[in-house]
Amino acid sequence: MKHTSSRFRMFSALSIAFALASHDAYPAIEGIKMPPNDGKLRIIVFGAHPDDPEIQTGGTSALWAKKGHHVLLVSVTNGDIGHWREAGGPLAIRRRNEVQKAHEILGVQGVILDNHDGELLPTLENRRALTRLIREWKADIVISHRPNDYHPDHRYTGVLVQDAAYMVTVPFFCPDVPALKKNPVFFYSGDNFQKPNPFTPDVIIALDSIMDKKLDALGVMISQFAEGGANGSADLLPADDAGKQEKRHQQVRENFMRRQQGIADRFRAKLGEWYPADEAAKVKFAEGFEICEYGARPNKDELKRLFPFFEK
Ligand SMILES: [Zn+2]
Repeated sequence: MKHTSSRFRMFSALSIAFALASHDAYPAIEGIKMPPNDGKLRIIVFGAHPDDPEIQTGGTSALWAKKGHHVLLVSVTNGDIGHWREAGGPLAIRRRNEVQKAHEILGVQGVILDNHDGELLPTLENRRALTRLIREWKADIVISHRPNDYHPDHRYTGVLVQDAAYMVTVPFFCPDVPALKKNPVFFYSGDNFQKPNPFTPDVIIALDSIMDKKLDALGVMISQFAEGGANGSADLLPADDAGKQEKRHQQVRENFMRRQQGIADRFRAKLGEWYPADEAAKVKFAEGFEICEYGARPNKDELKRLFPFFEK
């Protein structure tokens, strides 16, 4: 009994030493330029594949970046099966190169975790990995999929982020990276799934001023969109027909314009809560975000601070 308690004391002292060490003593996120503590917002977005954070938040992320806020887009898998013709390491590398180009356009940084596409599970190891990233980024805002999305990787990314939502504040969970003193606000990005409940945004952002940038960023992710991803075919982007290629790139742009327009139309009333009526009526493109119940719960003033896009 005595032995156990002294061992416990030793373990506690070690853990506390870990937890109290300065944040700067911990390794930065590999390959990422860690932002200074400059009072700007720190946003981390988790998508399942190297295209999801960009599709879900590309416009709002570019708006944040334009105002000097720090955005990190994380793909929880490496995208190594999401193509009709190719797979494995070469596809993962292609995906990485494409998102890097997209991130340069958006003005954000990115991380790709080396989990196989199509095989993500909500394991303890993955919960730890996401918890560490949220802490290392010292996030104010965390965004992910809802856990009732169509793709298992999307669902489990949503579950993993939910599982991390409280644990990021618990010092002795992953004591190698200091816990956050203040719980971030966790948001879900939008989707069209209705069961068990439809996506209901709490905040909605007009993208009209930034939409071209989002379309340019998605446009360079050729393996995902112009080539059609997992369900594409060689006909979509024929190598020997420049005219057809041009048409296909335009079609990809139009598909995404329709997508963002659909969100603006579906949540027009919500736009009216955030923008003056005459502006809300004219918004063409939008992204919406729903507050997850498990992190900090912001009021409207706090939401305006986190999404500083409504003042002229
Ligand atoms: Zn995906």
